[in-house]
Amino acid sequence: MTSILRPGLEQVTAYAPAPVDGLTLDLRDNVNLWGAPPTALAAVRGAAAAALQEYPAVSGGPLVLALAAHLGVRPDEIVVGCGSDDLIDACFRAVAAPGERVAHPAPSFSMVPRFARLNGLEPVGVPLRPDGAADIDAMLATGARILYLCSPNNPTGTLTPETELRRCIAEAPGIVVLDEAYAEFAGTRDWRAEAPGMERVLILRTFSKAWGLAGLRVGYGVGSRALVDAVVRSRGPYKVNALAERAATAAVRHDEAWMRAAAAEAAECRARLDGLVHGRRGVRAWASAGNFVFWQVDGNADALAARFAAAGIGVRAFRALPGIGDALRIGVAPWPALERLIPVIEAAWP
Ligand SMILES: *Cc1c(COP(=O)(O)O)cnc(C)c1O
Repeated sequence: MTSILRPGLEQVTAYAPAPVDGLTLDLRDNVNLWGAPPTALAAVRGAAAAALQEYPAVSGGPLVLALAAHLGVRPDEIVVGCGSDDLIDACFRAVAAPGERVAHPAPSFSMVPRFARLNGLEPVGVPLRPDGAADIDAMLATGARILYLCSPNNPTGTLTPETELRRCIAEAPGIVVLDEAYAEFAGTRDWRAEAPGMERVLILRTFSKAWGLAGLRVGYGVGSRALVDAVVRSRGPYKVNALAERAATAAVRHDEAWMRAAAAEAAECRARLDGLVHGRRGVRAWASAGNFVFWQVDGNADALAARFAAAGIGVRAFRALPGIGDALRIGVAPWPALERLIPVIEAAWP
């Protein structure tokens, strides 16, 4: 059986989170529950037949131009993809040869070890520091060809200070992939315009979270021309489909104020949600800067998630995370929806 498949593929399982029936409030995926950006939605609704009949731009043409103007970088310093997942995958393939290593914080984005193995690379998890920041010294000490960093980190929501990120980029033996999927919620300094001059970093952003377009699958990377060109080649053509390209382009041009307002509300709701467990025994809220809370819990996280599921609420459970134990990750939503969590919280941690 395995003889017809590529050696090593048996280590890769399909991404298939267990389905939960009967959810009426799904907070498992950190998507934007304030809705979709209005101009982007209008662009999809108003698409002409040509948008369906014809191929989109080979490498996301209009979207790349809109992003370049928005960020103040050159178009050839931006690469777009079918979600930022696609760019993690393509970048790994562009930079490392089979057998080389990818170091990543543990815990961090679950797709990273998966894409590493898919490309014949060896993922190396490096425990977070007790304060939730990536342990840059330990990551550099792995000597890995690719260092993946995520700030705010999924699932903990914790930030790695900018000085540490810069030191990592300066001292990395290879490439640093800096995943900023949740940066819009964090209010940290935007340094995307600097990335092209830094040579060894690819900064990744997505339209799936703050921008409210997860269903369309669009992400992008910003970096040096040489690195971006390599990622473009290893990604392949036509990864951003015509509707996604139109919607994301319209969003960048016209929906930034909408996005900022939704992100600001999300950050407020995060603080209020954390406030609900403050002082309760058996649950400890981490300092999340994303659009989700991260609660370290005593006892079994699956059993706790089942309590929420019984109330129709989907939350993400993590078992036995390195250095942390069990935890719940709960995406935020407009406050009236989150009030549904109150009776479950009061019953679980009286
Ligand atoms: C959600 C998420 C992404 C986004 O992935 P897309 O493929 O763009 O939807 C990327 N990185 C992290 C850490 C995420 O949590």
